[in-house]
Amino acid sequence: MSAACRIVSEVGEAVALLAAGGVVAFPTETVYGLGADATNPEAVGRIFRIKDRPTDHPLIVHLADISQMNDWAMEIPDEAYLLAERFWPGPLTLILRRDGRVPDAVTGGLDTVGLRVPGHPVALNLLRRFGGGIAAPSANRFGRISPTTARHVLEELGDRLELIVDSGPCRVGLESTIVSLVGARPQLLRPGAISVADIEAVLGRSRVACPPLSDRPRAPGMHASHYAPRKPFRVMERTLIRESISRMRGAGRKVVVITFLSRVDDLPDNVAFHVMPGNPDDYARELYAVMRALDNGDFDFIVADAPPDALPWQAVRDRLYRAAG
Ligand code: AMP
Ligand code: MG
Repeated sequence: MSAACRIVSEVGEAVALLAAGGVVAFPTETVYGLGADATNPEAVGRIFRIKDRPTDHPLIVHLADISQMNDWAMEIPDEAYLLAERFWPGPLTLILRRDGRVPDAVTGGLDTVGLRVPGHPVALNLLRRFGGGIAAPSANRFGRISPTTARHVLEELGDRLELIVDSGPCRVGLESTIVSLVGARPQLLRPGAISVADIEAVLGRSRVACPPLSDRPRAPGMHASHYAPRKPFRVMERTLIRESISRMRGAGRKVVVITFLSRVDDLPDNVAFHVMPGNPDDYARELYAVMRALDNGDFDFIVADAPPDALPWQAVRDRLYRAAG
């Protein structure tokens, strides 16, 4: 689009650009989003073109306030209000029955819509001043790693974008938890910082259906391969890692391993590695920046040491296994 993409810290220009049917990148607590006026099909169409995203992949509509929920959804169940009151503003997207006014461009023609009030002061300021819903996917090219800094957005889309609102690195670092409330039972479509346990603490125990990764993509746009580096990427369980890496290196591959301090001793000698935090929230916050840096580095294969198969690591494991395809 334009060669001169600008990075700003105030939302004023972004508000004006959105009102004029333009597209802006902005920070949220999860990842940076690529936003447009959700009531304007042409503006929303621009998002798909900028991202090279297939048009049947629905976008999440971001709202300033829970009171806007019924502008976009109908037949809203009590569970939606319970979850929204507890977790909004925050990293939770609710899938609800779509109101007739929502453009097809936003929902990919589905009869449902994804809604979220983001927990980020700049995103909320933008939403309040703009006044309406902002349709926004992550601000990366389709299938690539989501951006967690303004610089990442610039790398991904700087040649196609006019304006990026910068507010530093994202606090959460992974995309929102998505829960569908249109079926007989609430269903987890994408794990995130808000866990099933958090949701069941509000809705009641064993209320949420959690299909395993292999049984998805049930949310359109959630293909197994997503959030991916360009370089070959594999997740390996601890017991296999040493031998597999030795084999790859034997075949002349330059391998780098994303690992934990406690596991460095399990690695073969002289292999390149990056140590991640042992805490899932900190790991999540750093993951995409690390993947991006290693993808740009002088390696030809990236291996991630699988984090524990435990609930607090569910979102991180989901993204790692998706990145591995
Ligand atoms: P992104 O912001 O790039 O993670 O994309 C938003 C994701 O939200 C999509 O890829 C879908 O997985 C999900 N989503 C948005 N709207 C819906 C919907 N109506 N039904 C199911 N999933 C949705
Ligand atoms: Mg995305």
